[in-house]
Amino acid sequence: MSTYAIAIHGGAGTINKDLITPKEQQDYKSALRAALQAGEDILKDGGSSLDAVQAAVMSLEDCPLFNAGRGAVFTHEGTHEMDAAIMEGKGLNAGAVSGVSNIKNPVQLARTIMDHSGSVLLAGEGANEFARKMNITFEEDAYFFSQYRYDQLMKIRDTDMVKLDHSVSDAPKKFGTVGAVALDINGNLAASTSTGGLTNKRFGRIGDTPIIGAGTYANNKTCAISCTGVGEFYIRAVVGHDISCLMEYKGLSLEQACHELVQVKLIELGGEGGLIAIDSKGNISMPFNSEGMYRGMKKAGEDFVVEIYA
Ligand code: ASP
Repeated sequence: MSTYAIAIHGGAGTINKDLITPKEQQDYKSALRAALQAGEDILKDGGSSLDAVQAAVMSLEDCPLFNAGRGAVFTHEGTHEMDAAIMEGKGLNAGAVSGVSNIKNPVQLARTIMDHSGSVLLAGEGANEFARKMNITFEEDAYFFSQYRYDQLMKIRDTDMVKLDHSVSDAPKKFGTVGAVALDINGNLAASTSTGGLTNKRFGRIGDTPIIGAGTYANNKTCAISCTGVGEFYIRAVVGHDISCLMEYKGLSLEQACHELVQVKLIELGGEGGLIAIDSKGNISMPFNSEGMYRGMKKAGEDFVVEIYA
């Protein structure tokens, strides 16, 4: 029987219960639900998982609560450099973008790179030039400015620290990288992730998000994955592809493979974070080894699930 399902995340990290008001919790949950709805609207009409993950991530990119698109964190220089990726599991096609500025929806650019560039990953000024050529929407710097994010940078700019924006334990708000994974009624899987990266990042630093096989991966034979956490560890552990390989070559279930990466391998390396994953039967796994992860899922015929803590 054909079915569909979608899962999303809005970042993992030290999300301290005492520092988030009930109203703020509600705002996060509403934004997560709206993103699930945007994806489900496509899936229930027979649309593709690729379109669904793009729609869900665009919804989260447009929401200033999350560290992607409009809510992207500041670099050391006080700019925004965003990364995003999208992948489909049938033909293993992928598109990704890194270090772009002023792009309203980096995931839309990643999709356009996949569909029209002949390349997989475009970076920096070249990616911006391709975006202009393809009539991608740009926004002024003011669109990406928030006083809260600016204050986050000011607190650590004169240090060598970089921070997961949702792990600032003395701050009243937590935000995060966003992602979506989905299965459509034709049995196709897709994954997408979008981020501003880490507050105070320098020197063209790139995280796991746009690295296919690390922060984002999809393969119809196994699963679709979108990660959130300190990207360096996710790149070194090649998290997305490793989960897929554990399933394909070792016969592990989605749940077992995700557990192995998030609760064993990443912890051994010292990597904090989580991920969302879906397999070709519509099973969903959303493990994290941090205090919380903004996350949600919607399966055909079932209720919306939206959660923050364990
Ligand atoms: N994984 C992202 C990065 O390292 C950060 C995050 O998940 O918030 O760029």
